[in-house]
Amino acid sequence: MKSFIKYPENSDFSIHNIPFGVGVFNKEYFACCSRIGDMVIDLATLYDYGFFDEIEGIDENVFEAFTLNEFIALEKHVTKAVRLKIQEILGEHSKLAGDQKTIDECFYHFEEVEMMMPVHVPNYTDFYSSIEHATNVGKMFRGADNALLPNWKHLPVGYHGRASSIVISGTEFHRPKGQMKPVADENPIFGACKQLDFELEMAFIVNKNTEMGDRITTAEAEEAIFGMVLFNDWSARDIQSWEYVPLGPFLGKNFCSTISPWIVTLEALKPFRTDSPKQEPEVLDYLKFQGQQNFDIKLQVYIQPENGQENLISESNYKFMYWNMLQQLAHHTVNGCNIEVGDLYASGTISGREKSSFGSMLELTWRGTQPLHLSDGTERKFINDHDTVIMRGHAEKEGMRVGFGEVRGKVLAAKE
Ligand code: CA
Repeated sequence: MKSFIKYPENSDFSIHNIPFGVGVFNKEYFACCSRIGDMVIDLATLYDYGFFDEIEGIDENVFEAFTLNEFIALEKHVTKAVRLKIQEILGEHSKLAGDQKTIDECFYHFEEVEMMMPVHVPNYTDFYSSIEHATNVGKMFRGADNALLPNWKHLPVGYHGRASSIVISGTEFHRPKGQMKPVADENPIFGACKQLDFELEMAFIVNKNTEMGDRITTAEAEEAIFGMVLFNDWSARDIQSWEYVPLGPFLGKNFCSTISPWIVTLEALKPFRTDSPKQEPEVLDYLKFQGQQNFDIKLQVYIQPENGQENLISESNYKFMYWNMLQQLAHHTVNGCNIEVGDLYASGTISGREKSSFGSMLELTWRGTQPLHLSDGTERKFINDHDTVIMRGHAEKEGMRVGFGEVRGKVLAAKE
């Protein structure tokens, strides 16, 4: 499959991708959009030109909107048909290829478009589904013999996070302040966090509302998932380690989480499905699933100091996840918890076995005991003020590349 729009071979936004987002075009007009190569496609104007007329189920222009919630809530066969239609009209020999007027009106270079939050997120849940990450953290805090808690291999552990502070890539935020207890035998103190960390995660976004009391089985979960984004779950380790017992993460987590702007659909990720790690002991029936439900998505993390170069500090892969998305959603709803369109479910930090694949500074520097050395000669135990953390992710197979672009966030000094 080729497009009349030319793009480099290593573009995340090949014709095989066709992701969805929301942009502000020329600083004035909002619309839902897609992307190919360096070009952003204004779907609202394409709709007005009649390109989606044959697709039943879109009665009004759902792309004239500040978020994708209304679009993703359409029946999945409708959103699938829209994606395939965009792919078709981008094809090498499509009618659009010769229609320069429409191209001029609907296609913008990505630098002319400011990307916004793709969805309104009503609820956010964060899982803890990487066995390598959970084992590393367990070893650090409880010792090697007791690294995984007894429930971990029986259910996808998670907690309810804070939706209000999920922001789009590029958003700067202030270093959080809070209560910490840096010295074991002394009283807690208040101040700016000294152990600011990132967490390399991915998240999925759901496309339906359910009633309280309903559940979504592993067999039904795929239909309820629209697509995925990159997710940086910023974490204040010193605040977290003092506050988290007995009820779990709170102010160490809820000050900021950053997502990438393009939602990549499960359909685009289909060719990159792969087997899951073997689950031993066997899980309860409601967590059993069919088929290949992990995805081979290569992930990288970079630190860029102010005015400095990007330093690659971790290379991981989403395929390492012990619990998959179907199991996470089935577990989340098995008690009758209702879900809402736009809900975001994050994977938990994605670490691999090797040190070079750990998904947080906590693990990469082993709680600050083994600092990382950057190209400018400085070292990092955690994240400094004015550092930018960048995460990138893509899947690739047989010349086909489908990627997420990047999620970036810059840390400013704590507010007075
Ligand atoms: Ca997390």
